[in-house]
Amino acid sequence: MKYKINTLLLFFTFIFNIVYAKDLMEPTSYSKDLYQEEILDGNYSNNITHPDEYLGFGIGERVAAPWQITSALKQWSSQSDRIKIIEYAKSHEGRPLHAVFISSPDNINNLDEIKSDLSALSDARNINDRQARSIIENLPAVAWMAYSIHGNETSGADGALAAIYHLIASTDDDVLNMLDNMVIIIDPLMNPDGRARFAKSLEQYRGTAPNYDDQSLLHTGDWPYGRTNHYYFDLNRDWFYLTQPETKGRVKLINEWKPQILVDGHEMGAQDTFMTGPPREPINKNIDTDLIKWGNVFAQDQGNAFDERNWRFYTGEWHEDLYPGYSFYVQFRGTLGILYEQSRMAEDGVRRPEGTIQSYKESVHHQYVSTLVNLETLLKNSKEMYKDYWDGRKYNVSKDSEYANQTFVVLPTDNNTRLNTLADKLKAQDIELYQNTKDIKVENVVLQSGQLVANYTIPAGSMIIPNRQPEAPLISAILEFDADIDSEVLVEERQKSLKSGSSVMYDTTAFNFTMMYGLNAVTVSEHLDSGLETWKPSPVSSEITKDAVIWATNGVDDNSVAFAARLMEQNIEVRIIDKESTLSSHTLPRGSVAVLQMDNPDILNLQNLVKTVSDELNISVVSIESGFGPEELPDWGGRHFRLLEKPQIAMLSHEGFNSYDVGVSWWSLDHHLGIRHSLINASLASYGDLRRYNTIIIPSGRSMDEYTVDTLFEWVSQGGTLIAHNRSTRFLTSEYGIGSVKQLQNTFDESEKYNFDLLREIYSQYENVDKDKTNNNIVDFEVSYPWEELDGTLSESELKYRDKWQSIFMPSGSIVAGRIDDEHWLTFGTPNTIPVLYSNHPILMARSYVDAPVRIGQMIPNNKINEPRIINWSSLPSGNDLNVRMSGLVWPEASQRIANSAYLTRERIGDGQVILFSGEPNFRGATLGTNRLWLNAIVYGPGLGTRLRINP
Ligand SMILES: [Zn+2]
Repeated sequence: MKYKINTLLLFFTFIFNIVYAKDLMEPTSYSKDLYQEEILDGNYSNNITHPDEYLGFGIGERVAAPWQITSALKQWSSQSDRIKIIEYAKSHEGRPLHAVFISSPDNINNLDEIKSDLSALSDARNINDRQARSIIENLPAVAWMAYSIHGNETSGADGALAAIYHLIASTDDDVLNMLDNMVIIIDPLMNPDGRARFAKSLEQYRGTAPNYDDQSLLHTGDWPYGRTNHYYFDLNRDWFYLTQPETKGRVKLINEWKPQILVDGHEMGAQDTFMTGPPREPINKNIDTDLIKWGNVFAQDQGNAFDERNWRFYTGEWHEDLYPGYSFYVQFRGTLGILYEQSRMAEDGVRRPEGTIQSYKESVHHQYVSTLVNLETLLKNSKEMYKDYWDGRKYNVSKDSEYANQTFVVLPTDNNTRLNTLADKLKAQDIELYQNTKDIKVENVVLQSGQLVANYTIPAGSMIIPNRQPEAPLISAILEFDADIDSEVLVEERQKSLKSGSSVMYDTTAFNFTMMYGLNAVTVSEHLDSGLETWKPSPVSSEITKDAVIWATNGVDDNSVAFAARLMEQNIEVRIIDKESTLSSHTLPRGSVAVLQMDNPDILNLQNLVKTVSDELNISVVSIESGFGPEELPDWGGRHFRLLEKPQIAMLSHEGFNSYDVGVSWWSLDHHLGIRHSLINASLASYGDLRRYNTIIIPSGRSMDEYTVDTLFEWVSQGGTLIAHNRSTRFLTSEYGIGSVKQLQNTFDESEKYNFDLLREIYSQYENVDKDKTNNNIVDFEVSYPWEELDGTLSESELKYRDKWQSIFMPSGSIVAGRIDDEHWLTFGTPNTIPVLYSNHPILMARSYVDAPVRIGQMIPNNKINEPRIINWSSLPSGNDLNVRMSGLVWPEASQRIANSAYLTRERIGDGQVILFSGEPNFRGATLGTNRLWLNAIVYGPGLGTRLRINP
């Protein structure tokens, strides 16, 4: 019966389609007729299937879907002996990523040997000039050609598909000669999930007539758009943070192969033309200038090829190269990076102001021709480039290089999870890591605060990275505290800011690993090489004994948060020790997570569950036989053993939100915690059943209507924990928002009150007492007040005027110092100074009834300063400097503007709370320092910051 119904349905669907198709008018023209040039115009073997057969349309006429590309590759590899495909990764959605090796059959059979020669040439500590010359003599050229890392920038992958066919099917001598002397590795589709999303929207928004309007949905697609991967990550910012499977697999293979060039084929604005060529300033100083020289050689040939065909193009213009997390990370390893930027369009083509239509097929043709021309240029220059490469590799390990007397040191920490993560990322780049078993005395070091300290002792157990090793330039690029930017660039940047508020910086100006990760580090200006052994992770030891009354894990380790979360998800009661204690001679820092047998009388296999979860997380657990903390230390029945509440999480999402922030927050939940949560459409917030959640995250995004705000306010008052980021924080601190936190520009009429509360907060940490004076019964007429000696408090109008001026100079992705309240639960596991990635964020102002667990500015004692000083609305007690900038471009005006403002606030409202992050705490999955604050907020917030619910 069921079968019959299905057949009938099919039949009717078939009939309906015929009728429906007739229902639509034929268009008056077709976009496939726009461009008549043949892309594949060589002589080809009949034994290799033409791409048009896999596609069902002419190559370049439409966008090939990921599955079509995959099936073409699979079949070609069975048809040709010039090709070998390697699956180097699977995307989050399960799609394969392929590197397609193309060369002569001889070379294809010899890939391992070629790879090992390349590897030998990369380490000048092991071979001499003569051996290097002989390797170079025999090595084929090696090119890595990669496309469409942004899923909606489609033409690259289609061009790559054509190029693969051309190279494996051609019977022409020039191609055969090229393959004899070159290994070409084509990575046709770097982001299959993003492309699949975009390809789907092309299907959805296709009508019958072609659409040349780049504003139409056909061309733009829908939120979250096709650019990013499954978790909305920009994969072209991930090349050294290595958070996504696509990047991890790819970087591993690229680093094994050490190609001479790496082409990265993109698309840009629809009304643009084509850009290639070497970058303009700011260029990261760790890039070998030889590469810029070679970049010009390639650009010249490519330009000539475009000229011949009457195709417009340009070089340089907006393409800078300071941030090392683009595909251009390879430049720090000696590979020339070449960028293509083709104007972007969906398959129909785009109408331009001059009236012409740029067709998609022509875009694909541009990518294809660029590819072949670059390969020819490499063929001509490969040997010379290898020689330059060899010189560079010798330089990196020489004792005369600029890197030779430079050692990066990551100081010891109990945060093994974070330190091991750093080690993994560095090792993925072939960086050699060491550790010291004994203290090492050095003449001087630079701290992350920028201070130079003489006669410094590097404690035993530090991670030590001497920078006289093969990957020295990359090490410097990703570990040096500051990337050097030329004065001329700074002048240009400042003038641009003043003139139009624009910037010459294309990405963040701060990105070094240790600050992003919130790990304490120093730089030594010596080459350390004695008393070192190869770095290895701290051993994990779990002695989980049955008769223990408590099992606990060190709260400094980031995975302790996941430990609590994953146990609570299984309905186990978990406590947190909010003050350092010593129990059964185990020291447990504040924030340590404790499971008490007596809290969980009904859970039979408790011990096993604790063991399983700690094994999954690779963290140590100690067994405690007594809940007695000696002397004043917390005991298990006291108020410092605080019961947690299981988080039930919803995150608002969709149109209007910043997709990067939604994606990275979503990924952070899955990556760091792995517990259940709901992504919900934000429109649901006003009518859905919010009682299901006790934690709601509002990623950076949009404003909300009054009704939604009222609903959320009510939900918070009933005990909810509301967490907001950046633009959503901006909205919630506006007059339509929730709570009493304000933005700086709205507080100038009551600045003294804010300063009063700030001083109270500062003195609460730095105050000293003179006992004799205190015990004197006679009224003291000499009492001093923090504000008394202040010279020149600023008027409201001056503050407003200054603020307008200072706001012109806000940073765009720099790292500033956050000082923490080291008693607050939100800062568990966080060192006293936390580097904070800062952009044009809302500047948060909190009175004393709001917690400000992280404020901007690190207090640095300076006994030469003997009077209090004013910074805009706030003042700084004598004896202190305030450090704001840590890395990247932070103009002095910006430092003043954000000094002492709150980065993170927490305010009780009714039985619940609102937690506001001024920025995006999980940026690119790489700001692990602020990510920890966020994890604390989510997992500990319901238990520690709201009124505990008792089910009677
Ligand atoms: Zn792109």
